[in-house]
Amino acid sequence: MRRKVLAGNWKMYKTRGEAHAFLEAFVPLISPGAENREVILCGPFTCLDVLNAQAGPYAVGAQNVHWADHGAYTGEIAPQMLVELGVRYVIVGHSERREYFNETDSTVNRRLNNAQDHDLLPILCVGETESVRKDGMTEAHIRSQLDRDLELVDLRRLIIAYEPIWAIGTGKTCEANEANRVCAMIRKHVNFEGVPILYGGSVKPENIDELMAQSDIDGVLVGGASLEAKSFARIVNFE
Ligand code: PGA
Repeated sequence: MRRKVLAGNWKMYKTRGEAHAFLEAFVPLISPGAENREVILCGPFTCLDVLNAQAGPYAVGAQNVHWADHGAYTGEIAPQMLVELGVRYVIVGHSERREYFNETDSTVNRRLNNAQDHDLLPILCVGETESVRKDGMTEAHIRSQLDRDLELVDLRRLIIAYEPIWAIGTGKTCEANEANRVCAMIRKHVNFEGVPILYGGSVKPENIDELMAQSDIDGVLVGGASLEAKSFARIVNFE
């Protein structure tokens, strides 16, 4: 059975003090017996040591990592710097990185490989825009992203998140059965049954149970609703 993964992506939210307060509220709300559920908190770089110190059984993730180990790359973070802070996961290729920071399939691929070279477990994000969807090109677009992003990447040490861009932060959730259909297509395309595939895009307490009931959705990557302890706890405690 594939494990269930509940990941929060805090994006550029939360100071260290706010991260501390979140964990104080969040940890006691998690139901015991959530075994086989991997909870990952992906905070800003400045919060990662706070998360590692306080998150107990929950894993810590970063939101980006560089393709080189060191060098003149102002503003970037190398994998071993994250590993030293106790980070195990890293989001790579989020649509906001692709849109605002010129991330391409080629840089995504290099970042994924370097993350794995340092034993970080990458969470690769793929997904289509609204206009790609309207043109009926969703599958072709995602297959092309997967082919380019995953060159030389070890599928046994990877999580994939399907995040339709039109559903991110918009309140417009992809229908659970449609999200499931695309996740199944991704699994078939990468041709590796064991890869956990998450759905992301306006996941909230109101839709988590339906999403997690789908056959090919192994978990969720949650933005807005992961910022508040009560709502993220409800997501982690899905039925
Ligand atoms: P959202 O973000 O849950 O706020 O839509 C999801 C994401 O960007 O990973």
